Amino acid sequence: MNLIDDYRNPHRLQERLEVARRLATRRWTIMDVCGGQTHSLLRYGIETALADCMNFIHGPGCPVCVTPAEVIDAAIDLSQRPKVLLTTFGDMLRVPGKTGSLMQARAAGGQIRMVYSPCDAVQLAERHPDLTVIFLAVGFETTAPATALATLQAQARDLKNFAVLAHHVRVEPAMRGVAAAPSAPLSAFLAAGHVCTVTGYESLRSLAADFRLPVVVTGFEPLDLVEGIIGCLEQLESGRAEVENRYARCVRPDGNPDALRLIDRVFAVSHLSWRGFGILPDGGFTFREEYSLFDARRRFGLAPLSTLPADRESSCTAVLMGIIRPPECPLFGVTCTPDAPQGAPMVSSEGACAAYYRYAPPGATTDV
Ligand code: SF4
Repeated sequence: MNLIDDYRNPHRLQERLEVARRLATRRWTIMDVCGGQTHSLLRYGIETALADCMNFIHGPGCPVCVTPAEVIDAAIDLSQRPKVLLTTFGDMLRVPGKTGSLMQARAAGGQIRMVYSPCDAVQLAERHPDLTVIFLAVGFETTAPATALATLQAQARDLKNFAVLAHHVRVEPAMRGVAAAPSAPLSAFLAAGHVCTVTGYESLRSLAADFRLPVVVTGFEPLDLVEGIIGCLEQLESGRAEVENRYARCVRPDGNPDALRLIDRVFAVSHLSWRGFGILPDGGFTFREEYSLFDARRRFGLAPLSTLPADRESSCTAVLMGIIRPPECPLFGVTCTPDAPQGAPMVSSEGACAAYYRYAPPGATTDV
């Protein structure tokens, strides 16, 4: 049996689900903040299996979903300027801004190309010196190191025709935003293993202490998730609120120092706007002064993000903040489907609405 099979072992999974059921003496509410974990909870039936004894809510765990509409609009604006080639990851193309999506902009003549890595965009800049190649960079601390590396590559190659429209966000401030919201009946967090692989988990200790919430770091395989849930329940039932690492095969307390150094060299922590949350203190990264040449916002005179308003009004916002679950949105599966998405949580393959539509579709017999 290989390692992956071991973490999906159905007999062991049933045993651990039973342990979780026995531990829960009241209906606790556990939130994950990772689209991959949301998908695994639904795909492997964990949420359904425990639906009779606890609640699951899904927080802002999808970087595509939390990118403000104004950032998409800015990317569309740039793609329509002369001698500009806008590049980004494929899942950003269908995300709606306020003026449409990048895919629609491309159909209307915008110069937009999908890439698999920010370093691909650097290569495009090298091959097309007549164009300014802009990379639309979104994501958590997991993708920020690659954007920083691409920026350093461009600097080393003296590529003055490369720039980045960066919107990299930090997860811990969003967890604080959720915990502080009076509408979120939250008992504990599952912390995202991939983010903690980069950041470590020391910074989560003050979050756990400030809000008296257990925070358990875990991964994405079914047994990882159930172990994380058990970790939450053990703390809740014994009145503790600590940070615990149940993903020790990947996550170290101090994370990945090399990746953190890369981020810190190119970016500074700053207040940043999240879709659904508005501006979060220390919610993301912006370019340091010495890399301002590569900052598309500055180079093209775009409005600073800190002045942008929050998108607070919609069901999508309520889903992103864990206030409602996707099936509670009146549009879910009616006018909003993966083929005709009305909001970012349905567009992105990592979004909570897409996860529910795929694994717990409307009309399915399930309690989730
Ligand atoms: S179902 Fe569609 S409209 Fe409703 S919250 Fe999800 S993405 Fe938004």
